[in-house]
This record gives sequence, structure tokens and C-alpha cells, in this order.
Amino acid sequence: MRKPRAQQPAVQYTIVPIDLAGHLFNVTVTVATPAPEGQAFALPAWIPGSYMIREFARNIVRIRAEANGAAVALTKLDKHSWRAAPTAGPLTVHYEVYAWDLSVRAAHLDQTHGFFNGTSVFLRVAGQESTAHQVDIQRPHDPAARTWRVATSLPEQGAKRYGFGTYIAADYDELIDHPVELGDFALATFTAHGISHDIVISGRVPNLDMARLQADLKKICETQIAFFEPIAKRAPMQRYVFLTLAVGDGYGGLEHRASTALICARADLPSTAAGAAAKEPGEGYLKFLGLCSHEYFHTWNVKRIKPAAFAPYDLQTENYTPLLWLFEGFTSYYDDLMLVRAGIIGEATYLKMLGKTVGGVLRGSGRSKQSIADSSFDAWSKYYRQDENAPNAIISYYTKGSLAALAFDLTIRARTNGAKTLDDVMRALWQRYGSDFYEGGARGVTEKEVEALFDEVSGIKLKPLFEKYIRGTEDVPVAKLYAPFGVKLVDERKSAKPSFDAGIGRDGANTKLTQVHEHGAAHKAGLSAGDVLVALDGLRVSGTPSNLDALLCRYRVGDTVQVHAFRRDELMTFDVVLQGDRVAGITLSVDPKAKTALRRPSSQ
Ligand SMILES: [Zn+2]
Repeated sequence: MRKPRAQQPAVQYTIVPIDLAGHLFNVTVTVATPAPEGQAFALPAWIPGSYMIREFARNIVRIRAEANGAAVALTKLDKHSWRAAPTAGPLTVHYEVYAWDLSVRAAHLDQTHGFFNGTSVFLRVAGQESTAHQVDIQRPHDPAARTWRVATSLPEQGAKRYGFGTYIAADYDELIDHPVELGDFALATFTAHGISHDIVISGRVPNLDMARLQADLKKICETQIAFFEPIAKRAPMQRYVFLTLAVGDGYGGLEHRASTALICARADLPSTAAGAAAKEPGEGYLKFLGLCSHEYFHTWNVKRIKPAAFAPYDLQTENYTPLLWLFEGFTSYYDDLMLVRAGIIGEATYLKMLGKTVGGVLRGSGRSKQSIADSSFDAWSKYYRQDENAPNAIISYYTKGSLAALAFDLTIRARTNGAKTLDDVMRALWQRYGSDFYEGGARGVTEKEVEALFDEVSGIKLKPLFEKYIRGTEDVPVAKLYAPFGVKLVDERKSAKPSFDAGIGRDGANTKLTQVHEHGAAHKAGLSAGDVLVALDGLRVSGTPSNLDALLCRYRVGDTVQVHAFRRDELMTFDVVLQGDRVAGITLSVDPKAKTALRRPSSQ
């Protein structure tokens, strides 16, 4: 392929934050050779990795087109698209984008920083998607931005590393796959198997322990690179950037081909004031490292090994696939496992985290109604648009998907006497469907190919597992699967405290039910999600903080209590027969007395 800088790219953008207080980016796109019948433009309706129609074009507040200094008519075609009148010579579209979504999915701009995904700001030039796309990222004039730098994995063209200036993408798909952070961020760089990795932290974080973060991420990244390429230890990208925004309260991540955008609570980041570093990370920091590990694993599993439906993406509409259990569920299985293999946590902590996942999956009755293949397919309208009935109606392809991965892994290990593991399957998926994705392969994998590959690599007929746990709604028998490996599962349901078996939340100074679990005590008594609890056997239920637990602990499971509650503005009375928690706690631990022939399922 010809080097992109050898000629002027056919599609050129400029982007400048023009109004920090008003949260506005000014963007232009110039097309050297517009379509003779009139050039069409569209902004994506969704961002890959987050399976929901978000209609980013609704944040375009002003738009106009010009050619040779004269205005060109722009006709709106639908909620995402425009067509310019036919012109000879270069055509430029000018527009403003409102950026006030503090998430990893869109764009955000104020006096403290700027962040954008290409899907929120760069109009797609219809028909010219596969040509080189250049973008000039310009420094805002606002004095608040005098010392800002640029962090992105987008390849530099004229710009220096971390500088404003021109960047270049081989095509539109690449342009929108490198989010950009602008601001006064903290920065550290390390190498993992020869590849440069940046950690970028925006937001105020006093006494950030960057050295610890750097050391821990290096171990995680090297473990994963070696996982997919055990001999060559070759990473699939030329550099990698962890773009992190630290806030008071937040959690989320989105994967990209050479970076990830993360949002986290600043309390979850390690502090130099914590004294001598504890051996294992605390709960918050572990959650952050787990998130980093998850998004990094996606560099292979979904950014390169992709479902056929995503190769290529159709950015204007839903892209249906029954395979998110593989891309999200298996990634969730490996994200924690990689922490064990990297030496960040021990087996006991890993099993504790797994116990929580098992308990979480068992809590919802939706697991008996929806398979994780169906949950994947319907992600757009169900998993991503959960309402109060979600636990009764849907199953998470993340959590149950991770247990399905465990089922495949333990089954393959047990039946091959440890000769094969799920790792072999993942590596075969990588070699066959992922490793050359951006080098001309560009094809995804179908459900049939996935299933055939599992059998081929393991040498076992795995169809029954697909039938039961992927296409069916059977629970993954974790205790039975783990028994040959000397890991035992204890269900502490019997010690359960009396409960309504409902989600409890706050509504101002009141306590309200956020979810009512099917066939639970609240459901049987007639209570609904949204009901505001007033009194329990004549004693007030207060809301700040809720004293419901203190009131309930004076009763036994099986006792009947009278509950007064408001539904909207109508006072209602209910007799609730208290029950134990549906799933009080699942504990997994290594049984020291067990035979050890198949031990060490979680590390290798
Ligand atoms: Zn994910």
C-alpha cells in the first residue's frame, strides 16, 4: 500500500474546541472530489463496542456546506444524513458538535479537558470510506487550554507525539477507532514485549501512584500478548494507549484497536499516600485493573476476531449477532484469569470473584427465559435498554457468558486430561480469523465456524455444551465442573436474612422498590417496582439511610409483615411473607484434601 503522506488525502478534517464553556467542537470536512450527483454525508448511529442506537447526529447544532467560496445547498436525508448539491472541485462542510456526554461512548468538552470519539464528530463521506482520512486537531484559543496536550493512538502525520497538528488514518473505519483526549493529563509510558504503552489519566487524582499502575499494567499486557502469541510474543498493534478519565463516581470502558477509553472512580486508582503497597490490590483498584484487562483482551477478541456481522460494521443501523457471549462473555472470563496469570492476585481472590459472578447469575429468573445467544442478538433493545423488569426477563451475556467459558474450559481440561484447554481454542480463533484482520483479512467468524473450531481444536464433541449453555437456558453446573479440580462450592443460602427479594433504592427521603424479583416475597404480596415504602408493621421506613434492614432483622424467614406503601399518590397495604435471600452467597475455595491430578485450572 502506498504511504498515506505521499499525497494529499482525499478526505480532510479539522477539529477545534471553539467554546469550552458551551461544550462545542467546530469541525470541517473537505472532500477533494465530491460525488458528481451530489455528495452524501452521514454520522454513525452507534459506536462499535456499545450495542445501542445513540443517534449521535442529534448533537450537530449547525451545519453548512461551501465550495469555491460559495454556499452549497445541503439537504437532510434522514436523522443521520445529508446530501450536498452537485459541485465541481473541493467541497467543505462546516458544523458544530455539542459535546456534553461524560462517558466513553461520545464526546465531552469543558475548561478541564476535551474528549471525543470519531463516531461523534466525523461525518462519513459516502463512497470514500476506504481512502486515507486526515485530521488536523487544533488547539483551542481559550487560555484555559494553553498547556493542553493530545493523547490518542491515531497515527501522527504532521503532529508530534502528544501534540496538536495533523493525524492520519488509512480509512474511515480506522479514523473512528482512535478516541482522542485533550487536556493536562498525567502520563506514563512503559513497554510490553517491545510495544510502547501509554497510561493517560485525566481528572484530579491527588498522589496518584503511577509507578504501581505502570508495573501492574505491564504484567497484564505482557501476559495477554504472550497468551495469543506464546512463541513470537508479538502484539497486534504498533503502540497502545489507556485513556482514563478519573471522576468522583464512574465506571466503564470501551475497546478500540490500539487503545481503550476508560472512566473510573478516582478512589479506585492507587495512591502513593497508602504507605507500603499491599501485596494484592484492594477491591477498588482490582476493579480498575480488571477493567483494563477486559478492554485490553478485546484488542484481539472483537477488534480483530470479530463476528461476521461486524465485518464490516454498518454504522447506520443495528448489527445483529448471536455471538456476543463469545466476545463479551469469554473476554469477561479471561479478564480476571489474566490477573491471576500475571501474578496480580492469587487463586483465593480469583475464586472469591468467581463466586460473586455465580451468585449474580443465579439471582435473576431471566436466565430461564433467555439464552445468551438470544441475549446477544437482542442486545440492542434488551441488554442495553434495561428497565426494572430486567432481572426477570434477560440474562447477561457477560456474566453467564463467562460461566459458559468456564464450562468449556473445565470440560476440555477434564476430558483431555489437561492436554488441551480453552486457551488453545482462543489461539486458534486468533490465528484463523483475527491475526490478519487489518492486513487484508477483514472477515469475521460465523456461529457455525465457531462451533466447528471448538470441536476441532479440543478434539471433543462440544455440541451438548452449546445446546445447554449457549442456545439453551440451563444453569452452568459450576460445582460439578470444578469437582475434579479440587475446588468446592458452598451455597450459604441457609444462613439468609429475611428479605422482600426485591431491589431497594432511594427516592429523596424515602425508600422505594427498584426491582421486584419474580416469585419473590414482594411479588407474591403484590408490591411493584416504584412503590415507595412507608411503614412496616406500623413502624416508619425511613430513606436516608434506609432502616429497612434494621426493621427486617427483628423477624424470621416465614413471618408475615404488614407493609404500607405509596403507588404514585395512592396509599396501599400489603401482607408480605418474608423469605430468605434467593442467593445469599456462593463461596468457591480450594479443597486441600482433594486429589491434585487436574489442579491449577486457573493458572498455567
Ligand atoms: Zn467488553
